[in-house]
Amino acid sequence: MNPTPRPPASPLAGAPRPWRPTPVVAGTVALHAAAAGLAVAQPSAWPYAVGAVAASHVVLTAAGLWPRSSLLGPNWTRLPAHAGDRIAITIDDGPDPEVTPRVLDLLDRYAAHATFFCIGEMARRHPRIVEAIAARGHAVENHSQHHRHYFSLQGPRALRSEIEAGQRTLRDASGTAPLFFRAPAGLRNPFLEPVLCALGLQLASWTRRGFDTRTADSALVATRLLHGLAARDILLLHDGHAARDERGRPVVIDALERVLRAARDAALPCITLRAALASAATLPLAAATRAASASFEVNE
Ligand SMILES: [Zn+2]
Repeated sequence: MNPTPRPPASPLAGAPRPWRPTPVVAGTVALHAAAAGLAVAQPSAWPYAVGAVAASHVVLTAAGLWPRSSLLGPNWTRLPAHAGDRIAITIDDGPDPEVTPRVLDLLDRYAAHATFFCIGEMARRHPRIVEAIAARGHAVENHSQHHRHYFSLQGPRALRSEIEAGQRTLRDASGTAPLFFRAPAGLRNPFLEPVLCALGLQLASWTRRGFDTRTADSALVATRLLHGLAARDILLLHDGHAARDERGRPVVIDALERVLRAARDAALPCITLRAALASAATLPLAAATRAASASFEVNE
């Protein structure tokens, strides 16, 4: 078989955008400065200064542990309003040589497009599967190079090198640079957003997740995903690290089919995140992002 002709590699990243600290981040920086000033001007007050700084760190840490929070920066938890009656299925932690091809066949059967948040290291091992994802009309986005559990404990340089490595691997495998980033387990810290701004990437989380890496019951996974299904939802499933049912089948297969059937019955076409972005060609990324981030509701 002849190798598929590949288009020239696209740039490594999207257009950088200016970083604007959120009120929580700006407030924390101001509080650090005020606490330092207080400790210098009135040394006996240092316990209050230290207490205030510690409290602000608790707030930042809590915000980073809440995947759907926009307190640390813009975060797509639903599609922007102009996406209309569409939803997005996002599939994390692949590519997986056993599961991903079955997921692709299922998506084809329902003429649905999905967004695959791939791990760079897995893509490097299975580049043909990444190629197939892109060739079948789906989007390949960045889920970091190594999916390390301590991702959110790293500083700006380590975050940037991990995300850039993912950009390079996924662009080389799919032919197109990712436009979206999803943090491993959705966990973040305040250094992430400036890095994403510099690389022209948009953070995306989800409206609902099925916990299909831990739950062996595909019906339960589907029920969690479909509870309150509505236009502009972003749903999270996994082709990598997929839990297995009692017959040893990856639960994502059956759960995804239930979701696709429900979406078809509800007349909610499945599009990629980047299609939602592209359909806002006249809408700047920042505006689309504000629209998507402003509408999140607590759903953890
Ligand atoms: Zn993941």
